This record gives sequence, structure tokens and C-alpha cells, in this order.
Amino acid sequence: MGNSVSVRLQPRIQDKELSGPSWAGKFKGSDSTRDLSGNFRLAVDKFILAMKEAGMRVAINATYRPVKRSYLMHWAWRIGKGKARPEDAPALGGVDIEWVHETVAQSVNAAKELMAAFGIATLGTSPALRSQHNLGLAIDMSISWNGAVSIRDAAGDMVKIDTMPHSGMNRQLIKVGESYGVKKYGGSGHDAPHWSNNGR
Ligand SMILES: [Zn+2]
Repeated sequence: MGNSVSVRLQPRIQDKELSGPSWAGKFKGSDSTRDLSGNFRLAVDKFILAMKEAGMRVAINATYRPVKRSYLMHWAWRIGKGKARPEDAPALGGVDIEWVHETVAQSVNAAKELMAAFGIATLGTSPALRSQHNLGLAIDMSISWNGAVSIRDAAGDMVKIDTMPHSGMNRQLIKVGESYGVKKYGGSGHDAPHWSNNGR
């Protein structure tokens, strides 16, 4: 009975889990319009239906996104790109992530891996900490088509789209989206796939 029992005198490191790519699998977002809220959901569904009837291709990348996911994306990008130090990331309740690894290189590498897992490694700016996605009031979608197309606007009128580009950045298409209450991103910077209830 002379064996001493080793007792951990130090508190555990707050039950935090080190950052890394597996965090991208938590606090999942949605790519379905079903997870958008109320009237905006109806508006988006009508706009997408009109685009499809016009022969346009629409691929939805994201709709609703939990605040916790936005937090992870934001800080993974900033630390991974060297815009913030690992210890600069504030804690967020309910997200027990430890951004600070044993070495700075490990911290940055883990953030880079998480950034890649989110598919945001090529973004030129950090994903917003808060956005209309958190409220179910924004959608990211890739839109494309060939040649000139005619699309029905919210008033029921057919609108011919015969200008470039053949993407969600097309001004004629942006106007049609507005008629449905789906507004192209008009804030600072560049966010090509982003549409929302208020253009933010
Ligand atoms: Zn977006």
C-alpha cells in the first residue's frame, strides 16, 4: 500500500479542445432554403424557381449559419492568414475551442487546416462574425446560364437578360432579384454569391 497515488494538483485545461479541421463538422450550417426565415424564405424560393424556369443554373452554398460557426470561420481565417495572433481570439460561450497550441506554428497550421475545411482559404477578407445568415436572412448561391434568357419578375413580367456577366453579379438579374425581395450584397468589399433580405 506504499504506492503513492498521483494526484493532479493542476486543474484540467478547462476541457478545451485544440483547434483543427474537425471543428468544421460542429455547429453545422444549412444549404437548404427550408432553414431560411418566414417571408424571406418564400421570396428566395420564388426567385430561384423563376431562375430555373428561365433555364439558369442555381447552386446553393449556404443559407442559415449558426453564430458559433461564424465565430469559428472568422478566427480560423484571421489566425490562418496571420492577421491575428492565436491568443487574440476571444472565447465564445458554448464553443470550447483552444486556438493556442504549444507553438505559434502549430496554432497557425491548425487554423489553416480549419480554414481549408470550411472552404474559405481563398477568401480575400475574413468571414463576418455576424451576418444575415445567422438570422436565416441570407443565401449564398452560384448562378450561371448560357446566352440570353427571359425571366419572370415578381410582378409577373418577363424580363430579358442579355448582358454580361452570366452570373449573380449581372445587374439585370440583380434587379429581378430585388423585385422578389432578394437583394444582392451591396456592402463593403466583394461577396459575389451573397444575397439577403437587406443587401447586407
Ligand atoms: Zn453569404
